Amino acid sequence: MSPTTSAEVFAHAQSVIPGGVNSPVRAFGAVGGTPLFVASASGAHVTDVDGRTYVDLVGSWGPALLGHARPEVVAAVQEAASRGLGFGAPTTTEVELVDEIRYRVPAAESVRLVSTGTEATMTALRLARAFTGRDLVVKFAGCYHGHVDALLAQAGSGVATLALPDSAGVSTATAAETIVVPYNDVDALETVFVAHGDRIAAVVTEAAPANMGVVPPLPGFNAALRRITLEHGALLVQDEVLTGFRVGYSGWWGLEGLREGWAPDLFTFGKVIGGGLPVAAVGGRRDVMAQLAPSGPVYQAGTLSGNPVATAAGLATLRLADAGVYATVDAASARLRGAVTTALAAEGVPHAVQWAGNLFSIMFGAEAATNGAQDYATVLSTESFRYAPFFHALLEAGVYAPPSPYEAWFVSAAHDDEALGAIEAALPQAARAASQ
Ligand code: PLP
Repeated sequence: MSPTTSAEVFAHAQSVIPGGVNSPVRAFGAVGGTPLFVASASGAHVTDVDGRTYVDLVGSWGPALLGHARPEVVAAVQEAASRGLGFGAPTTTEVELVDEIRYRVPAAESVRLVSTGTEATMTALRLARAFTGRDLVVKFAGCYHGHVDALLAQAGSGVATLALPDSAGVSTATAAETIVVPYNDVDALETVFVAHGDRIAAVVTEAAPANMGVVPPLPGFNAALRRITLEHGALLVQDEVLTGFRVGYSGWWGLEGLREGWAPDLFTFGKVIGGGLPVAAVGGRRDVMAQLAPSGPVYQAGTLSGNPVATAAGLATLRLADAGVYATVDAASARLRGAVTTALAAEGVPHAVQWAGNLFSIMFGAEAATNGAQDYATVLSTESFRYAPFFHALLEAGVYAPPSPYEAWFVSAAHDDEALGAIEAALPQAARAASQ
């Protein structure tokens, strides 16, 4: 008999796939229990193979800005698929997608499409090293940039969920070229640049970190990164794989750099620009991007890069993501943040709901409630043990929140009054569970 429940499929999967999953957080390691094996998703809902339907707050970990299986996006994918699944040759759609990205973020003067955010940040590092002729890279503790060897030190959610400080298998030589600095700490960064400034190729940062829970940049922090890197001839790489075209029409840069009149040298994008299929990008200054092969000496390539079906999904998604979509998602996020706080306060659970744009997460404990968490060390000292009972009470009531305290909650334009109402109805019980 073939397996029919999530528990049955998971039991078999664990014997044939490491940990039973193809990306660690899916295994429910931080919250315990059996992961949902999803059969289908539509709008704000996912349905598992057991036949239970949940209001979804995972959103495919970011891409599902419009909600799942939006008919226009599915139609674009079907139309593209009907013309062939991939050619390994250039297509018009990928150029149109790049034009759409550039229109929204003009500082991305030139853009290379890849398939994953990991590839995008890996390429950004290689470009920065080639362009500057330097080897060292600075990252911030708690920021995640994909599973790039050089960027896996203190990399937030995935490794934090597994309680790993770093990943095994990263060579000592590679790790030695990465300097890790506490997030939101300009003085620490200045100190690093005083000591090593002429050897630093790039500072890589999440535009607004959402992989150690949501820890927004303090006012002026990103601008300080821009100033310090310029002073020392290093490049600034702003990772917008998660925030890009999710927190606003022009991503986090549209909320901050655009208004303040500055831009990083390189951006990385992913998630929303693929609309649920594998598309990511690195883009930025034309002179830096011109280093990429075939116009320059930095090698980078991909059999599936700019895939016609994937880029059709991304293009259709971005074309639908207008100001109205962002207003809807922002309003849904604000309503949920308020509901979470109301429910937890009613049970006397000290907490902070931290947010950046429409991304948010919950930090439990009196310290977080009083001062918030502005860096990874503080995040790790919060009462994260309260999250598992909170999560399971929500799940029991039909709400699928992210299965880790260190991940952001993702709402979509499909989270209508009914979906939000269902979450609000589930929250009091979850807050009670978190109070124990
Ligand atoms: N950068 C950030 C900020 C991310 O959140 C992620 C994934 O969550 C990545 C990079 C890696 O992207 P991918 O999982 O597509 O490799």
